Amino acid sequence: MMGTGAMLRIDKQAEAEMQGAVLPGNSTAELRRFAVPEPSWGQVLLRMKSSTICGSDIRAIYREYLGKGPEGYQGVIAGHEPCGQIVKTGSGCRRFTVGDRVIVYHISGCGLCNDCRRGYMISCTSEQYRRAYGWQRDGGMANYLLAEEKDLVFLPDALSYTDGAQVACGFGTAYEGLEKIGISGNDSVLITGLGPVGLAAAALCRKLGAHRVFGIDLLPGRLQLARDLGLCDEAIPSGPENVSEILALTAGRGVERAVECSGHHDARATAIRATRRWGRIVLLGEGGTVQFQPSADLMHDQKTIYGSWVTSIWKMEELVERLVRWQLFPSRLVTHRFPLGRVDEAYALMATGRCGKVAVCFDEELL
Ligand SMILES: [Zn+2]
Ligand SMILES: [Zn+2]
Repeated sequence: MMGTGAMLRIDKQAEAEMQGAVLPGNSTAELRRFAVPEPSWGQVLLRMKSSTICGSDIRAIYREYLGKGPEGYQGVIAGHEPCGQIVKTGSGCRRFTVGDRVIVYHISGCGLCNDCRRGYMISCTSEQYRRAYGWQRDGGMANYLLAEEKDLVFLPDALSYTDGAQVACGFGTAYEGLEKIGISGNDSVLITGLGPVGLAAAALCRKLGAHRVFGIDLLPGRLQLARDLGLCDEAIPSGPENVSEILALTAGRGVERAVECSGHHDARATAIRATRRWGRIVLLGEGGTVQFQPSADLMHDQKTIYGSWVTSIWKMEELVERLVRWQLFPSRLVTHRFPLGRVDEAYALMATGRCGKVAVCFDEELL
């Protein structure tokens, strides 16, 4: 901690300003200068260490501003998957202190509505107080981040900051969905869409003891990454034969569980139809639509479809503990790291989809 203290004093003298990236909505990322914020009551200042890019950043902000409400981008510093170290605390902090390594739950809620009281600030119903980092308040694509103490989760020493950056959104979203449908050694699992959330779901299915994991994606690079990381028993190119391919792999019955991570209408229909009688499907991929026959595809086979959006902060704490127990390191999904100065390249690469997870990193996380 002595080193941190010394670092603090240097920071205070030398850094009144910092760089932060904003997304103008024209497929670029723009670096601007900002004042280093000052934590007030119940707030902390983080020195950023790792900030990963999410599919939703690309879908709703980067190319053009498509988001409304919770996905409405208000021109703030981007990045809703931040992980860093506390360098300053405001008054009134009760648990966290300077030097702590922390993950930030990426939506700051009112704290008082029913959803916030369940720990699901993602679903906070207060229009006035619900603020997502990187959407309606400054996010992690900067040297420093101002966060509310109530939004923090301790990052264990066994996990790196780049592991931590993926917990809140990607791994948390996947974990929540898998907990909703329940995964055990009885289950063959189909994952449609092998982007970061799909790969996270596959990695978690392995640790939860799934019997077999099948993945489907359009992009050969993603299928290859799933194979290289040993996350899927079969990685199958998406196409019109997908349902019969899955039936052939499961003695004609279909999978017990399906996790839809693509948001594509055909993939959603595949996930529903390739699930066996009494099976469960969870939808995690955003946007779009789906067409299926309620009687033939769902009701008569006694299947259940779950919807799921991100996770709760207590489940994030539980996931972090389990990642250590399982020795599961989310940073294995990161294929590219960029310094903040090259943030534009980082978003451009993520927008191609020809990569795993892309991270903007600082200090030791860049080495
Ligand atoms: Zn995200
Ligand atoms: Zn709330």
